[in-house]
Amino acid sequence: MSTRTALVTGANKGIGYEIAAGLGALGYRVGVGARDGTRREAAVTRLRDAGVDAFGVPLDVTDDASVAAAADLVAEHAGHLDALVNNAGITGGPAQQPTTVDLDVVRTVVETNVLGVIRVTNAMLPLLRRSPSPRIVNVSSGVGSLTRQSAGDEGTTGPVAVAYSPSKTLLNAVTLQYVRELAGTGVLVNCACPGYVATDLNGFRGVRTPQQGAATPVRLATLPDGGPTGGFFEDAGVVPW
Ligand code: NAP
Repeated sequence: MSTRTALVTGANKGIGYEIAAGLGALGYRVGVGARDGTRREAAVTRLRDAGVDAFGVPLDVTDDASVAAAADLVAEHAGHLDALVNNAGITGGPAQQPTTVDLDVVRTVVETNVLGVIRVTNAMLPLLRRSPSPRIVNVSSGVGSLTRQSAGDEGTTGPVAVAYSPSKTLLNAVTLQYVRELAGTGVLVNCACPGYVATDLNGFRGVRTPQQGAATPVRLATLPDGGPTGGFFEDAGVVPW
């Protein structure tokens, strides 16, 4: 059996870096998807120094040509893909009151957090289909949970954010459409919430470490055959839709 291979988008820092490190520690060869060359190579070097079989994958999830080239590169390196972790994401910044928001902020966030996932997933699917046990993990957020938003629980909803929160709700909905189309193919597709993690994304205000945030995505990327598909998970269990 050839070396198991994973691709993590937005793997140069934060939770994505730790997902790459976690998969590497489990013996996966890891494609470090990142749009900036300097940050990407720094992450690859750090991972290799930690013993991970890492390779850099230039990848801007908003760019068709970049994503197509990334699929070609993974095909050259590995010929297949066992796990795709769609981790890259942005918040769009703090100015997200629905009554005053700049629509370009909403567009940009959806382009990255939702269309980016569709673009990357579709480009990588031919490689995933060559794996005996393909896994797709979409890094979502509990703030995309309509159940939690409508419950108004300040502890789980995050700030009012008409771009970021709904982008994760849409990502969850998109994920379920993949689950339906791929039913019976062996491709397991799930959403993960990493919890509130201290990263650039939130000015390092999160209360969990990136390593802790990586635990559920890594678990879902390495599910055994027959494992769940179409779920939304955090460390504590299932997140309500
Ligand atoms: P982060 O440290 O800001 O990392 C985000 C990563 O996404 C970076 O590598 C960034 O690359 C990359 N990225 C952004 N736009 C991209 C694009 N167009 N193409 C390729 N890569 C792109 O944030 P994080 O907290 O680790 O977030 C990772 C994921 O976890 C996101 O999907 C986020 O929504 C989710 N999440 C985070 C939290 C939290 O509390 N932190 C909670 C729930 C969910 P650059 O370095 O080039 O910008």
